[in-house]
Amino acid sequence: MFDPSYAASLAARLAEKPRFTGTPGERRGAEIISGELKAAGYDVRREGFRVETYRVVEARLESLNPSFKVPCSPVGFSGETGEEGVEGDLVYIEGADPALLPSQSGWIGLSSVRPGKEEWRELVGKASGLVIAESNACRLPSHVSIPYEWREKYGSLPAVYVSYSDAYRLLGSKRVRLVLRQEYRRSLAFNIVAEKRGYKYPDEVILVTAHYDSVRGVRGAIDNAGGAAFAVALARALAQGEFKRTLRVALFSGEELGLRGSQAYVKKHRDELGEIKLVVNLDVHGDAIGRNASVVTGPKELRNYVESKAKIAGLNLQVSENVMSSDGTSFAQEDIPALNFYRSCGTGVYMHTIRDNGRFISEQGYALIGPFVEALLRELLDAEKLPFKREVPSDLKKKVDEYFSRWRV
Ligand SMILES: [Zn+2]
Repeated sequence: MFDPSYAASLAARLAEKPRFTGTPGERRGAEIISGELKAAGYDVRREGFRVETYRVVEARLESLNPSFKVPCSPVGFSGETGEEGVEGDLVYIEGADPALLPSQSGWIGLSSVRPGKEEWRELVGKASGLVIAESNACRLPSHVSIPYEWREKYGSLPAVYVSYSDAYRLLGSKRVRLVLRQEYRRSLAFNIVAEKRGYKYPDEVILVTAHYDSVRGVRGAIDNAGGAAFAVALARALAQGEFKRTLRVALFSGEELGLRGSQAYVKKHRDELGEIKLVVNLDVHGDAIGRNASVVTGPKELRNYVESKAKIAGLNLQVSENVMSSDGTSFAQEDIPALNFYRSCGTGVYMHTIRDNGRFISEQGYALIGPFVEALLRELLDAEKLPFKREVPSDLKKKVDEYFSRWRV
């Protein structure tokens, strides 16, 4: 039986430390997860993969006229300024709107949104630096990165995040200096995989996934210690029974750097992907007060099935057909239906900031959705025939392709 208090306490334990890919904290997370899966009776496999990571050496932003300092958080992989930094007039460019971009170069942009790939390419070489305002006034500066490929292909644009109120203050600044120093390196990261073979249809796999890495320096409680603990708690609940199909659980690293762990998994197992009939992906879970939601990247039949099961269980599940920015999408790209579950909650606004710290993780976060997903998995693992086709309809497939083309160079 699914144990909500076990899931909550494991989530809290994972969230004691940041788990940024390539750091000792990530290794600690992997060891905790492996240990729990082994204790539940699984053989655990570690699958290493290479991933580009970054380390921040120094990040400093100051207004020179008038003079004041501004706390900031670097955008990983964006670029470096050297110790002396870059200095320039501060220009408010909104969403890199062409009408606001100066024709000469050498200025520092203040942007209201994180630029997409096209805007990034447009700004490199024109701006000497970029300051991005948080779009929500409650947020501390984000600890995120751009895909490292952007810098390799389009060039460097040292960028930092600042809070909304500091950005507002910067509107009154004429000239700023930005110092950003970071180092890039290729690290070894690990996906953790456990499996329970089916006795009748062993070559049909239901794959449960969650990422256990966090963004840099953030404890990543709801995102995604909560989901990783959810996946382990499901594996534990299902460890005893025998099922017709194979249950596989994969905990990915490198998600926050661009779904790198699930991409590595898909690449490594390309020849065996045909056996995976469904991916159940868990991202953003564990918060006490919230609502449960599902994003289906798969056939209509799958959506109908999940909706009916939720009604029967008395669960107000918000179901939509869409693409989620999470590991399930790496599989949807290979025509494997992805069923994502997440919890929309009060602390969602803290995601990717140091305030996602586990303060509000509690067993209420799993009380309904935990047993629901467990029952769903039991039924699918034991069904004589799955109640949906293994396909991603063309309209959703198009959205999946668009999702990847937004950041792939
Ligand atoms: Zn996540």
